[in-house]
Amino acid sequence: MISIAIDGPAGAGKSTVAKAISKKLGIVYLDTGAMYRTVALKALKEKVDSLDRKKLSEIVKNIDMEIRFIDNQQHMFLDNEDVTEKIRTPEISIGASNVGTIPEVRLKMAELQREFAEKHNVVMEGRDIGTFVLPNATIKIFLTASLEKRAERRYKELVAKGNTEITLEDVKRDIECRDRNDSSRSLAPLTKAPDAIEIDTTDLTVDQVVDKIIDNL
Ligand code: C5P
Repeated sequence: MISIAIDGPAGAGKSTVAKAISKKLGIVYLDTGAMYRTVALKALKEKVDSLDRKKLSEIVKNIDMEIRFIDNQQHMFLDNEDVTEKIRTPEISIGASNVGTIPEVRLKMAELQREFAEKHNVVMEGRDIGTFVLPNATIKIFLTASLEKRAERRYKELVAKGNTEITLEDVKRDIECRDRNDSSRSLAPLTKAPDAIEIDTTDLTVDQVVDKIIDNL
């Protein structure tokens, strides 16, 4: 089995690059952030605080979450409802970062992700794939970019999706907050694996990043 682990902070270009690699190599792309987002949506639905460890531990034990691929696109289902679009709000971004600090949530997500990688050739993207989920991945990539560039990319994405209320400053603040959360949690924090290849994408095109990764395979 082939597994390509791509980690890095929000807006570093992980999902764009992972999608392009998946297409080029004909392997599945798994966005693990969508799983944390779905847990955050469940907490929101149940009116549970996204940092409540006890309640979140219960939630992940029983969660009815399913990943389905429709026309090669990853869809997240929660309680049999397609929530793929619903989980892309700034509120859910922060919620996902919060639930991701809870060890019981991480252990459950990592277990599901490892099972996935046992069955599929995969390019898996997240925060802890190379360090924790797939320590024996075929290749590990750590993407970075300046905070300004990352905020600009996320802002453009949100505007393109019709979000007219958000400002670039809001997005920058959210990203900084998530960076802090992601890098400081006790279990599987966001950090570059010692054997990962680090690529700064600030001034690179998607094709340039993809070529660099494929050249290293
Ligand atoms: O990648 P995305 O921005 O959708 O992820 C949302 C949040 O989920 C991240 O800020 C991070 O806190 C959390 N996450 C994580 N581990 C992963 C993927 C995402 O903790 N493997």
